[in-house]
Amino acid sequence: MHLTVDGTTTRFRAYGPRQLDDIARRYPLPDAARETVRLLSRVLPFRVNEYVLSELVDWTRVPDDPMYQLVFPQAGMLDEADLGVLRRLAGRRDGDPEVVAAVREIRERLNPHPGGQQELNVPRDDSGPVPGLQHKYRETVLYFPGQGQTCHTYCTYCFRWAQFVGDADLRFAARGPAGLLRHLRGHPDVSDVLVTGGDPMVMTTERLRGHLEPLLDVPTVRTVRIGTKSPAYWPQRFVSDSDADDVLRLFERVVQSGRTLAVMAHLSHPRELATPLAQRALERIRATGAVVYCQAPLIGHVNDNAATWSGLWRAELAAGLVPYYMFVARDTGPHAYYRVPLARAVDIFQEAYRELPGLARTVRGPVMSTTVGKVVVDGVEHLPEGRYFRLRLLQARDPRLVGRPFRAPWSPTAAWVDELRCEAGADEALHAALTGGARAEVA
Ligand code: SF4
Repeated sequence: MHLTVDGTTTRFRAYGPRQLDDIARRYPLPDAARETVRLLSRVLPFRVNEYVLSELVDWTRVPDDPMYQLVFPQAGMLDEADLGVLRRLAGRRDGDPEVVAAVREIRERLNPHPGGQQELNVPRDDSGPVPGLQHKYRETVLYFPGQGQTCHTYCTYCFRWAQFVGDADLRFAARGPAGLLRHLRGHPDVSDVLVTGGDPMVMTTERLRGHLEPLLDVPTVRTVRIGTKSPAYWPQRFVSDSDADDVLRLFERVVQSGRTLAVMAHLSHPRELATPLAQRALERIRATGAVVYCQAPLIGHVNDNAATWSGLWRAELAAGLVPYYMFVARDTGPHAYYRVPLARAVDIFQEAYRELPGLARTVRGPVMSTTVGKVVVDGVEHLPEGRYFRLRLLQARDPRLVGRPFRAPWSPTAAWVDELRCEAGADEALHAALTGGARAEVA
């Protein structure tokens, strides 16, 4: 690893479970924590890089540090029985049949395929499902370029975790944009393409260009969105990587074509915005004419308090970014460890929101991305018949349902819409959509 005078690393290198000893030699990773990560990373993905280790994790606060919790698997993420099995098999090699079977069994219990991802959203053409595409909302298509299906660092709460441990069923990956282009030509009402992953910014500029530039020949595409956590996990991508300037020129080209380029930045904690390198990266992105929208889930042990969110949204506003979504975490992976009940999520959102200047109140939340659409919990109302969550569809698979309000009896423990008894009143279309299933799925 080479550090420049301003602390930027010159070359990206990912560290996984095999580099734990190396990490422990250079950072005060306690022995017990190292062994925990070694055990859990047989089941859950673990990947980190030098920038996250040196700039984001506060090693004086490990293991409670939010950035440490964000990246390093924790003992509480598996139940005691599963941990016991992993401990018993610790000395065996990864390919040992008993290890393989035990790991597969534990993963199955972690709900690796939150509902609806493959069945409901993947469009079909004459030759069958179109690989690497999801089309859920009329105006937006999600595009998963094959070479962008990894990240600079993995989040412990990632709802697509299973794909990072080799689950081919969850992998959405297009070799190239041909299927996307055909789909767009047949669907002129699609105005937005969200290029997502993993993280598309792990690709070289040359590869990214191969996916983005053809979109500029489709006149009906008006907005190109890029979902990424690279400003947080590897801001060098826009500052000092060998093709950093090229990627900014590519962004400019999208903007100069008359499109909106929206960088959908995944920012979980204000610390991610506090480094000079992240600030420089975001300045450079904004200078291309791109607009940066910010979103993240609310996660126990990472950002489950109002001060963190108001600090994050204020920092975003100060950096010229647009606070956009606070999501509710989906029920997959170690969800039991980080789930935050909706009742608490509303309190955290509202307390943080009250602290904001008006310009930062662009943010919406807490929002669940369900089979029906994006459901926001607008608040809690106290009525003579009891306490209710007030809910609303911000976005819907059926566009006629966008904006429709509904309610559900308040619950102190429910953490997802399918744990609520939703009431749509006399709204039959909404009632049908909600009772048809409002499970967790890919947005
Ligand atoms: S950056 Fe996004 S896709 Fe990558 S691990 Fe984190 S949540 Fe998952």
